[in-house]
Amino acid sequence: MRIVRSTAAMQRLARQWQRQGQRVGFVPTMGYLHAGHLSLVQEARRRIGPVGQVVVSIYVNPTQFGPQEDLSRYPRDLKRDLRLCRAAGADVVFTPTDAEMYPGWGKAADEPAHGDARPTFSTYIVEEQLSRCMEGAARPTHFRGVTTVVAKLFNLVLPELTVFGAKDWQQAAIIQRMTHDLNFPVKIIVAPTVRALDGLALSSRNQYLDAAQRAQAVILSQAIKRARVAVRRKSMPAARLKTDLRNFIASAPLARLDYVEAFDPDTLTPVITAKRGTQLALAVFFGPTRLIDNGRL
Ligand code: AMP
Repeated sequence: MRIVRSTAAMQRLARQWQRQGQRVGFVPTMGYLHAGHLSLVQEARRRIGPVGQVVVSIYVNPTQFGPQEDLSRYPRDLKRDLRLCRAAGADVVFTPTDAEMYPGWGKAADEPAHGDARPTFSTYIVEEQLSRCMEGAARPTHFRGVTTVVAKLFNLVLPELTVFGAKDWQQAAIIQRMTHDLNFPVKIIVAPTVRALDGLALSSRNQYLDAAQRAQAVILSQAIKRARVAVRRKSMPAARLKTDLRNFIASAPLARLDYVEAFDPDTLTPVITAKRGTQLALAVFFGPTRLIDNGRL
């Protein structure tokens, strides 16, 4: 397995593969890998074939964190991640520095760099429809950072296909839209959410939870199951379903609901009537830690 740190080297390698007619599958991550990430690597391998190239990027992308968020304390363990990537059958791990990805970033973007010949990063990609609700409403600049970094990674890795997790449903929908709108020649695959035995969706952020919070964090997946049962036989007003789920989540004393939404899985527009096939998503705080989950009803 090869480890690539510079953007120039990654793009050179990708162009070489392109000339050789090699297939390339890609899994972008922020590292601190768990079985959910590794399932995406396996899916990329399965689709690209044994001789194709599977690239995993490990990069904690600063532009998708808000000023009050956990960028500096986001968990990192590159040594362990590399071991896991090797075991999962990745061919290349691309792990660039901030200076490589966003030259000059951190200086005020609206200030000209007087007498400074270094380039300053100042171009972003903004998806304007699907990014406004749910995670986008709670985290206003988050998706701008996600679409920008994913577009950059596509241009560096030149993948034929890229695998994202259904765990971040809205993110996957936005990336699909961006890929379509901007004509990236990349197929987007969305792979199922991998969960702990009790139902909690695996997440790098789960390690922030103390034992009591971890025990109650199962409330997210239980809420999805509860909603599934509620609409199994017949549809119901989404408002009534959401009120019931708010009360249900309040039954976990350490949980503080951020939002719960019932929406169309493709357009992400909220539904009036929740029924089979409706998508449900929620975000719940445990102390400062914010967890998200979603599922098809
Ligand atoms: P992250 O490192 O959190 O940016 O996630 C990188 C990719 O892994 C994204 O496509 C996520 O949706 C996906 N992912 C995260 N958690 C899971 C999970 N539990 N199951 C499947 N995919 C996941």
